[in-house]
Amino acid sequence: MAEPVLKLDGKISIITGGAGGIGEATARLFANHGAFVIIADIQDEQGRQVADSIGSQRCTYIHCDVADEQQVISAINFTVDTYGRLDIMFSNAGKVSSSDQTVLDLDLPQFDSLFAVNCRGTAVCVKHAARAMVEKSVRGCIICTASVAASRGGSMRTDYVMAKHAVVGLVRSASKQLGVHGIRVNCVSPSAVVTGLSKRTTEETKKTMKVYEALTSLKGIELTVRRVAEAVLFLASDDSSFITGHDLAVDGGLQKLPDVDDVIMYNR
Ligand code: NAD
Repeated sequence: MAEPVLKLDGKISIITGGAGGIGEATARLFANHGAFVIIADIQDEQGRQVADSIGSQRCTYIHCDVADEQQVISAINFTVDTYGRLDIMFSNAGKVSSSDQTVLDLDLPQFDSLFAVNCRGTAVCVKHAARAMVEKSVRGCIICTASVAASRGGSMRTDYVMAKHAVVGLVRSASKQLGVHGIRVNCVSPSAVVTGLSKRTTEETKKTMKVYEALTSLKGIELTVRRVAEAVLFLASDDSSFITGHDLAVDGGLQKLPDVDDVIMYNR
């Protein structure tokens, strides 16, 4: 029987927000494809458990709040000092707006706190990952997690929609600027997928997924974190060696974001 193809054999990767959800699924898939994974997150116990279950030969955990530039620098320095270089940065950490407010009553302290992670935190990860790659002449890959909310207006969660649009702007600009160094920068834009971010009951989750299903072209299949991870693997591997500045929708052909009245809010 043919040996399974290891698409990331020997690659050194950092996954922010890897303690759960999309990041955890990607950490497992990357490790299965021969990468060494550093999970950078703020949920220490959960992050360590995930790293332990993947195995110390393939994965380690480090505390890193992406809202704090110094912590991102430390995580990247740790990686380069320990493993010699950084090949892949998956900047995925994020949080969700808990409000259904429109722009008329935008809560600015909440806006700032969400932007600090989803937008500024992503920029900090891209900046320092790129610096580490350029310094070591690594033709690396940077992948960010945007969202279906990065390309459409929404009837709620204005701050989240704005922050995710900004992530795509960052990816487009960084890809232009870093191409000269051979560094590719792309993002994935998943539709609704059940993870820790959506702290809802099973009933609420089912109702929300039904709303999304009705708005999705592709029928008879649901989005899972594994399917998002497969898209990230594609962008991290040589399978996408001539692709940069791309926003890869993982949404089954979602036609529009659901209206505010149709979905159960996140994190109520
Ligand atoms: P999740 O809650 O399971 O994972 C998010 C992870 O990010 C958690 O482990 C959390 O501890 C970590 N995190 C949060 N703030 C952090 C910080 N300041 N520093 C470091 N880590 C931090 O949720 P998820 O759905 O897997 O979210 C991952 C990404 O996917 C996010 O960027 C989110 O916006 C995006 N996304 C999610 C969905 C969805 O439906 N779940 C859809 C589109 C995009």
